[in-house]
Amino acid sequence: MGSKENRSRQIVHPLDHMLRTDRLPHIWCQGCGIGTVLSSCLTAIKASGLDFKNVVMVSGIGCSGRAAGYVNFDSFHTTHGRAIPFATGLKLSNDNLNVIVFSGDGDLFAIGGNHFIHAARRNIDITVICVNNFNYGMTGGQAAATTPYMAKSTTTPYGNPETPFNLPLIAFAARAAYVARWTMLHTRELTDSIKEAIAKKGFSFVEVLSPCPVNYGRRNKEKPFDTLKIYRENTIIKNEANPADVDIDYHDNIVLGNFVDTDRPSFMDNYKAIYNSE
Ligand code: SF4
Repeated sequence: MGSKENRSRQIVHPLDHMLRTDRLPHIWCQGCGIGTVLSSCLTAIKASGLDFKNVVMVSGIGCSGRAAGYVNFDSFHTTHGRAIPFATGLKLSNDNLNVIVFSGDGDLFAIGGNHFIHAARRNIDITVICVNNFNYGMTGGQAAATTPYMAKSTTTPYGNPETPFNLPLIAFAARAAYVARWTMLHTRELTDSIKEAIAKKGFSFVEVLSPCPVNYGRRNKEKPFDTLKIYRENTIIKNEANPADVDIDYHDNIVLGNFVDTDRPSFMDNYKAIYNSE
């Protein structure tokens, strides 16, 4: 038995001050990877030394979209697919803000796909973190724009006949300044990458592969540890790989890395150059 003082001492997690702990426990299922991605994101924000008063997190709808409700800085849980327009408005209204979009593949690349490509094209200075679990987890496991070819979902019970998006290629083609892909298992690389993405002037994008054992995993005979094994054994790190070469093929190696890091004027740079010169 410890002393009375020890027994009453509260254990505080190093990220507790960045969370609305009164909102916990979270809604995510056992074995879900979203919490680990959020942990990497918060660690990166902390390591970046940002003033939390100038950090805003914006999420759309879906399991990943719940993240915005748990963080202890200004945050917005927006409508489906519209996280990027909200984030764009925030950044344009106050250029000092560090605006981070944290959302899922369905929200960002199906319902919100058009917003993504235009924000990247404009080089809006925001960071977009996409948790990619290959399906619409929250609504029951329907096929998404990221569901691998022949993978099973509630809407493709015999296998998905569609070709999925290559998210880094979309970001690169739309001229994002920073593009990376990691898995939630690669926590150190992921944290460093998010830190770089936050520091990057311009539109930065980090895709994070993350298990959804309850919907995607169950239908594709992947138990939680099977997915982690794939992340460990079937991935290959190729920094600066051509995004055109990083299609996800579940039967081959999945390419991870920091693929793109370029510099060009952000939207606000161009805007100020035009309107301040008048
Ligand atoms: Fe995670 Fe899937 Fe559960 Fe959603 S449904 S919380 S993505 S495991």
